[in-house]
Amino acid sequence: MTTPGFQPEIIQLIDAGAIFYASHSGGKDSQAMYALMCQHIPSDQIVVVHASLGEAEWPGVIDHINATISHQLNVVEAGKTFLEMVERRGMWPGAQHRQCTSDLKRGPIEKFIRQDMAKRGGGIAVNCMGLRAAESATRSRRSPFKANRRQTVKKRAVWEWLPVFNLSTAEVFQMIADAGQKPFWAYEQNERLSCVFCIMGSRNDLRHGAEQNPELYRRYVQLERNIGHTMFMKSGQPIWLDEHIGIPVKNIEVAA
Ligand code: SF4
Repeated sequence: MTTPGFQPEIIQLIDAGAIFYASHSGGKDSQAMYALMCQHIPSDQIVVVHASLGEAEWPGVIDHINATISHQLNVVEAGKTFLEMVERRGMWPGAQHRQCTSDLKRGPIEKFIRQDMAKRGGGIAVNCMGLRAAESATRSRRSPFKANRRQTVKKRAVWEWLPVFNLSTAEVFQMIADAGQKPFWAYEQNERLSCVFCIMGSRNDLRHGAEQNPELYRRYVQLERNIGHTMFMKSGQPIWLDEHIGIPVKNIEVAA
């Protein structure tokens, strides 16, 4: 197995009493990251936080996180849901400008870290995320450890760390198995997990999401028709979600 990135800087931060915030989505990478963190970081220096996407995420994800961690789970939410955000903008987020990630995940977690640090009277915070280089070319170019200068102020130093950055998919599943755990049940068919209908989801995952969550699927398909903007393109042309994945939806009102 690739040696996970516990470089000297991380050891120094542990010794300096930094608080490591595990951003836990409920997905396999978060689950492996948490298991890895618990092996090397004192328990009282770990805080677990989940940015809930509410109706947009797989039902049961929060229960799954709670069943696989030994810390209290902090659940944070943005002041709007994914579907409200799309409805207000009249368009879906794109892969290049993922407003969904920044507004619904990153923003609420950074806010939580600021508040938690304030309660502690300041200190060092390490925002830990389960992103991996193998996921995409864009992700492979990220730095697995860096200062977050935007969030750093006089009394609060904030770092960002990707503990499982160098792990392969097989190694992630192995790490979960080694912890005596299983990944969320949807991985029996899904390649990735987070929003049931992710703007970057594979057809396989979208189809599985629709089969398991037909009412939510109907709402996504209806919203596409309402705003006249599609989540996906095919050969440079917009394609409705139901046509994209080939699962028809009944009772969809199509504006004349
Ligand atoms: S899972 Fe996909 S749709 Fe959901 S917030 Fe992340 S990028 Fe956006």
